[in-house]
Amino acid sequence: MTDKNAWPQSPEPIWRVGKQQSPHSALTENIETDVVVVGGGITGITSAYLLAKEGLRVVLLEANQVLNGTTGHTTAKITAQHDLIYDEFLNHFGKENAQLYYRANVEALKFIKQTIDQDSISCSFSEEDAYLYATTPEYARKLTNEMRAYQQLGIHGEFVNSLPLDLPIKAGIKMPNQAQFDPVAYLTPLLNSFLQNGGRIYEKTVAVDVQKGTNPVVVTKNGSTVTCKHVLACSHFPFYDGNALYFSRMYAEASYVVAASTKSEFPGGMYLSAEDPKRSMRSHTFNGEKLVLFGGESHKTGQGNRLSDHYKALKFFAEETLGVKNVLYRWSAEDFYTLDKLPYIGPVTSKQDNILIATGFHKWGMTNGTTAALLFKDYVMGNTNPYQDLFSPSRFYADPSIKTFLVQNADVAGQFVKGKLSVPKKKISELKQDEGAVVRINGRRAGAYKDQEGSVHLVDTTCTHLYCEVEWNDGDRTWDCPCHGSRFGVDGKVIEGPADRPLTNLTDELE
Ligand SMILES: Cc1cc2nc3c(=O)[nH]c(=O)nc-3n(C[C@H](O)[C@H](O)[C@H](O)COP(=O)(O)OP(=O)(O)OC[C@H]3O[C@@H](n4cnc5c(N)ncnc54)[C@H](O)[C@@H]3O)c2cc1C
Repeated sequence: MTDKNAWPQSPEPIWRVGKQQSPHSALTENIETDVVVVGGGITGITSAYLLAKEGLRVVLLEANQVLNGTTGHTTAKITAQHDLIYDEFLNHFGKENAQLYYRANVEALKFIKQTIDQDSISCSFSEEDAYLYATTPEYARKLTNEMRAYQQLGIHGEFVNSLPLDLPIKAGIKMPNQAQFDPVAYLTPLLNSFLQNGGRIYEKTVAVDVQKGTNPVVVTKNGSTVTCKHVLACSHFPFYDGNALYFSRMYAEASYVVAASTKSEFPGGMYLSAEDPKRSMRSHTFNGEKLVLFGGESHKTGQGNRLSDHYKALKFFAEETLGVKNVLYRWSAEDFYTLDKLPYIGPVTSKQDNILIATGFHKWGMTNGTTAALLFKDYVMGNTNPYQDLFSPSRFYADPSIKTFLVQNADVAGQFVKGKLSVPKKKISELKQDEGAVVRINGRRAGAYKDQEGSVHLVDTTCTHLYCEVEWNDGDRTWDCPCHGSRFGVDGKVIEGPADRPLTNLTDELE
């Protein structure tokens, strides 16, 4: 590609290019094992790898294809610098808990580095300094408070007034010796090791329920079951809720990445803006060429405006910062936030201690997902772990949980009503090629997409999770739910939960 205005037609994450995994068959019988891991991202694969190494019998169930969830679409900075977080955690949870959070993430980074060294994994791992920067006086003040929290908590960091990158800033915090890697290249050898240690993987196998008990039974969509001693829900959004109403305690945020070759040399380091719109940068050498991954433009899933504009905004930022030669890849994904921003890792409810969940990594899942796997190993092996209480999904900190709970659920209710009342403005006949829109057909609301060949794909826009109305995402050609973040393909197939059933396909109604 030589034309700098050329644009990758379809979203594709750089990590998956040329790295198709050999497929695994679906589960079609009832089986028995020690541990069932549901979900083949960093959390599930690391957990499966660790537990198979301990000699346990482990089965990994994956709804689609391993490494094609958020882990396949991340920017893969491995760091304990999680945006502006430590001042907030210090105020809400106290010094000890804020320190524990930092330590858990430092240990996760160490674990990743050690695993790479021990298993000689080639995954473009490099140590980099992480920078959080502010371009406005307001956020420079927030960074000052954050730096004060670093000092109180004993976090390694340095206040800086400029960046190695030519970007005017008001203030910055450097966290030295963090890292970046290629997540698919890192996790593929872990998967192979898991298989060599007797692990079994079933793809195209959607877990839909758990029959709880001493030996819980994971039920899959086609009716096959796996009886086990422990269930690890590593499905990004927990596939099993245990009546703990996780959908009311979390929300999804989408963000975007553009991978480009640049005119100015990237000086190394990993960067994140403290203010919105978020701007993130790191480099990755691909086919011998150094590319910069420009990320950001976060918004609640299904609630952005013209979603393709987010890619354009990142390209504009790339142009302004380093100059763009070519944009080679672009992609987007979402991640979940809990009410208090601490991940939920542990028993799904206090009464079901053999069904564990890990979710809510708030865009920091390389370390938090690894922390979850290490914690899961200790839960399953019956060992104590210093981070058990901190991440317990049954914890409750009144501040900020209540406030966020009310705001989040008012937003969900608002989106629910808005979706039901919105009047479709487009007719199917008005759709251009490669355009999607909400339309009215036979008196009902439907989602129509006219593909590049001119065929129309029609779906019922009512989300199968909790019945909000999905919205068209023109950036990725998906139907996204503004309430809880489920995403569906143009024919209704589930791309991302919590929904586990497709949108009803209405294409037949066109005939
Ligand atoms: C754009 C973007 C950039 C990011 N950048 C960074 C970064 O730089 N550093 C960082 O630390 N974090 C980052 N994150 C966050 C990080 O990528 C995620 O937190 C992490 O990948 C989540 O991993 P996971 O294993 O929990 O989920 P996933 O990788 O999504 O894996 C879950 C798997 O479960 C499967 N599944 C779901 N439901 C079922 C079911 N019912 N049955 C069977 N299987 C099921 C899915 O198909 C999927 O494969 C970023 C996130 C985004 C969106």
